[in-house]
Amino acid sequence: MPDFVRPLLQAPNNEKKILLHSCCAPCSGDVIEAMVASGLDITIFFYNPNIHPKKEYEMRKSENRRYADKFNIPCVDADYDPKNWFERAQGLEYEQERGKRCTMCFDMRFARTALYASENHFKVFTSSLGISLWKDIDQINDCGVRAAAPYENLTYWTYDWKQDGGSSRMYEIAKRERLYKQEYCGCAYSLRDTNAWRAQNNMGKIEICRNFFSPEDTVEDESEEAVTNFFKFYPDSKEAENRQNS
Ligand code: SF4
Repeated sequence: MPDFVRPLLQAPNNEKKILLHSCCAPCSGDVIEAMVASGLDITIFFYNPNIHPKKEYEMRKSENRRYADKFNIPCVDADYDPKNWFERAQGLEYEQERGKRCTMCFDMRFARTALYASENHFKVFTSSLGISLWKDIDQINDCGVRAAAPYENLTYWTYDWKQDGGSSRMYEIAKRERLYKQEYCGCAYSLRDTNAWRAQNNMGKIEICRNFFSPEDTVEDESEEAVTNFFKFYPDSKEAENRQNS
């Protein structure tokens, strides 16, 4: 266990039993360690049908399990139903990240998580997604709250995992554990657009399942500046559509 200094976490209504929707091992690293250090009883729920291709999905899932096993944290392996995800993404193929397609994607994943939470007597659930600097925490929290709303005794925990250095610790833990280092958000469209951005920046195409965090990696790779640069050059939906059709 690392010796990071963290505040003691208090979940809504002081609940101890938490269902954690996890998107991947790197994002859940600091979230898990912070919860364990606060004496919370976590179960991981892995439901991410957005991840494409399947090889990438299996890698992210197995890395998440490898990391959770260190803490004897149970993992629920939910369905991989990409057909359902692609159907819902129709008409949203050229949306930018943080746009409408991502709202659909979070809504879908959180609705399934909330259902499992309700059926299995969890009163609080949350997600590792919000720790990433690439994500809009307000968008994620809105989706989480919306997913919990139909259930009387269920609360989405809107904690900002980025705060108090959470994003930096996330990176350090990923390096320490040599976790798989995915280079795009997850769906086929984010893979397409990230490769377009990489081409603009004279970088080669993403090689699925190839890179792992190493001690030489620096947190600047995922600094606010790096994220700002990505979104500045990120192809807008019209450009992306034109490029696709040309
Ligand atoms: S970019 Fe990421 S969050 Fe947005 S739709 Fe694709 S996988 Fe989901």
